[in-house]
Amino acid sequence: MSNSAKPARQLPGCFFLLLASCCQIMVPQSTDSLLHELRQIDHKIHRLSDIRATLEWDQETNLPSGGVDERSEQLALLGGMIHDLQTSPLLGTLVTSLAEMTLPTDEDRAMVRLHRREYDRASKLPKELVERQARLVGQSQPLWAQARKENNFAKFAPYLAQLVDLAREKAELIGYIDHPYDALLDEYEPGTTSAEVKAVFDGLEAGVADLVRKIAARPQVRNDFLTRNFPRDVQERVGRQVAGDLGFDWSAGRLDVTTHPFCTTLGPRDVRITTRYDESFFNMALYGIIHETGHALYEQGVDAKLGSTILAGGTSLGIHESQSRFWENFIGRSKPFVDRYLPVFQKAYPQSLGDVDATAFYRGVNKVEPSFIRVEADEVTYSLHIILRFRLEMALLEGSLKAEDVPQAWNALFTKLFGVTPPDDAQGCLQDVHWAMGGLGYFPTYTLGNLYAAQFFLVLKKDVPNWETLVRQGDFAPLLAWMRTNLHRHGRIYTAGELCKRVTGRSLDPQPFLEYLNTKYGAVYGL
Ligand code: ZN
Repeated sequence: MSNSAKPARQLPGCFFLLLASCCQIMVPQSTDSLLHELRQIDHKIHRLSDIRATLEWDQETNLPSGGVDERSEQLALLGGMIHDLQTSPLLGTLVTSLAEMTLPTDEDRAMVRLHRREYDRASKLPKELVERQARLVGQSQPLWAQARKENNFAKFAPYLAQLVDLAREKAELIGYIDHPYDALLDEYEPGTTSAEVKAVFDGLEAGVADLVRKIAARPQVRNDFLTRNFPRDVQERVGRQVAGDLGFDWSAGRLDVTTHPFCTTLGPRDVRITTRYDESFFNMALYGIIHETGHALYEQGVDAKLGSTILAGGTSLGIHESQSRFWENFIGRSKPFVDRYLPVFQKAYPQSLGDVDATAFYRGVNKVEPSFIRVEADEVTYSLHIILRFRLEMALLEGSLKAEDVPQAWNALFTKLFGVTPPDDAQGCLQDVHWAMGGLGYFPTYTLGNLYAAQFFLVLKKDVPNWETLVRQGDFAPLLAWMRTNLHRHGRIYTAGELCKRVTGRSLDPQPFLEYLNTKYGAVYGL
C-alpha cells in the first residue's frame, strides 16, 4: 500500500539516458532473446524494490526523527525510478511481443503476465495523478491521526471526501467491468471482483452472526490470567523460540520492535518481522510473532530460483494472510499447540500462569466477544469488522454514502452486526489508517485470508492426518513441508484463484471457514 503512494520523481540524467538509448536499440526478435531482456529489467526492478524495502524497514525500526525528511526524498526517488522502469517503452514492447508468443514454462508465462499487468496499470495513471495522490496522502495521514486523537471526525471528513474522489478517478482510468471497486481491489487481490467478495461475505455474515448470538447466550470463558505480568525480555525469548520451532530460518531473517507489526522481504534470503510488547498482555507479542512468522515462512519458502524476480513473494494479500492466520489461529490457538506450549509458558512465567490448566488456557486464548476495535477482535467476530468496511467503501465509491455521513452509517451498521454501538468515532470509523493512506479496496483481503486458510487446512488435515500428534510433539516440519510444496514454492506463478483450485479443487468458498468456527467454538463454549 505504501509503495503505490510514493510520488514518481524525475530520474537522474544518466539513468534516463540509459533508458533512452535502450529504446533506440533494435529489439531482438527470438523468444529467448526477448525473455532474456525482460529478465534483465525484472532483476533491476526487483533489486531496486528490495533496496526500497530496506530503507522502509529502517524507517520503521531505527531511523532518528531528524532523518525523516531526507528518507522520504530517498524513497520518492527510488519510487520514481521503479515506476519509470515498470512503464518504460522497452518493457511495454517486450511484454506486448511476448504475450503473443508460445512461452516454454509456467514461470515465463507468469513473468510476462505480471509485468504486463503492472505495465498496464502503471501506464494508465498519469504522473500528475500519482503525485497528487502522494501529496493528498501526505496531508491526510497526520490529519487523520489528529482527528482520531481528538475524536473529531469533522476534521478528517473533507480529506476522506477527496480520497474517495481520487479513488474513483483512479478506478475510471484503470478501468473495470462491473464496479469501480474492482479496479481498486485488483491492486491487492488480483483477479478477484467485488461481486465475488460480496457473494462470499453475504454467505459468511449470516453464519457468523448466528454463531455470535449462540456464544453470547452461554457463560463467558475466563481469560484474566492473560493480563497478568509478562516481562518483556522473557516474552522476546519465548517468541523467538516459538518462531524458530515453527520453522523461521534465523539465518535468513530477523525480529525487531515496531509500533505496528509487519513482515517485509529485503532480498531472497532476508525476511524481517517485527512485533510489539505489552508486559500486562500475554497475547499481543506471542500471537503477533506467530502471525508475522506465518507471513515470513511463506516468503522464506519461495523457490530460490524465483529470488529477486517479480515471481518472488506471495501471490496476493489474501493468500499471504492465509499463511499468517493459519499459524496464528488454526495452529497457535489449537488445543494441541496449547498442550505443547503451556508448560513452556508456565516455566517462563511461573507467577502468572502457574495456576492455569490447559483447558482453561485454551478457552482463554479463544475468548469471543463483540469489540469495537478490529485489530483486537477474536477469530469469530473479526470478519464482521471487514464486512462493515467493505459495504461502506462500496457505498462511498457508488456515491450513495457521502464522506461526512460515514460516522452515522458506521454506527448503524456496527449496531446491526454486533448488537452494540461504538461510544465514539475514535473507536468507530476513525480507528484504521487505511483510508488516510489511500487504501480503499484493501480490507477484504484480511477476511479472504481466513477463508483461504480454512480451505487449505481441510486438505492439509487429509494429507497429514496425524497433525494434532505432530503439533503436540512440537514437530511442525511436516505441516510446513505441506505448505511449502503446495503453496510457498510457487511464489507468484499462479494467481490466488488458480492456487486455491490447484490445492483444494474448489474456488473460494466461505463454508469451510464457517464449519471450522462452528466446530471449534461449539466445543469452547459448549454449544
Ligand atoms: Zn498479516
